[in-house]
Amino acid sequence: MQNRRNFLKQAGLLLAGGLVAPQLLTACGGKANTNAAATAAEAATTATKNIGLQLYSLRDMINKEGIQKVLEVVAKMGYKNLENANYDKGKIYGLDPADFKKRVEDLGMKCMSAHLGQEYSKEKASEVMTWWDQAIEAHRTLGVKYMIQPWMATNDKTTLDDIKMYCDYFSQVGQKAKAAGIIFGYHNHDFEFRKIDNQLIYDFLLDNVDKDSVCFEMDVYWVQHGGGDPVAYLKNRPDQFKVIHIKDEKEIGASGKMNFEPIFNQMYANGIQDWFVEVEQYSNNDPVASVQQSYDFLNNAAYVK
Ligand code: MG
Repeated sequence: MQNRRNFLKQAGLLLAGGLVAPQLLTACGGKANTNAAATAAEAATTATKNIGLQLYSLRDMINKEGIQKVLEVVAKMGYKNLENANYDKGKIYGLDPADFKKRVEDLGMKCMSAHLGQEYSKEKASEVMTWWDQAIEAHRTLGVKYMIQPWMATNDKTTLDDIKMYCDYFSQVGQKAKAAGIIFGYHNHDFEFRKIDNQLIYDFLLDNVDKDSVCFEMDVYWVQHGGGDPVAYLKNRPDQFKVIHIKDEKEIGASGKMNFEPIFNQMYANGIQDWFVEVEQYSNNDPVASVQQSYDFLNNAAYVK
């Protein structure tokens, strides 16, 4: 099989000779390689399970090899739904939203969700809301169902009043997003599972946002890591969790610490269909292998539809 170095060398020789074929130029330019893209698109389209991926899982490869290559690799594995994690000034991974959407859909996948966010303070309120106006416009073009803020600023001095300010901020963003036909949500880590004035930050958030305009994307690994029970939260607040991060310490299923079957059972009981694999650390320093292993684990699990 031709490796990348030989391929580039050959393309360079062809270029020097003035005999470059158009498909080699497009392959080198980071745009769709027609054959690879067609194979990948077929894999995503014929995959039977509705498995999604948070693209943060392949962040280093995106930086090194470009987004197009990563999209093709992910489609070929059989992932169907994507959640982005690179919004900046109207662009998604440096591309116009319509261009990014077309690349994803040409590969048989969907732009389902996006992570993006802003820190908030009363002094910056107007600037922050203008930022969201532009972001909402971009994500409307992208056609996502969800826009998710994946963090919030807290420290040792954070008070419940500060958390309440974030609840009001999220509610305001959620109302704007809702008017544009997009569901806004908040994604947790484990810091939300500490207490301020004897109240769990996570529960305070769940209780104090405008529930009609703000949903929660539960990261099941971080909930458990923080000391919470993902299944209990899903049971107790069926209307607030719309979308899920299926995450483990490294590859899904590898640590043996996460019991995914009751989580999926409760997700389906709640009517949740949208969820994303997230791999943040890798056993063998090989993110693609880890993302593939995670796909295979879930694809082989009888409890995953
Ligand atoms: Mg997550």
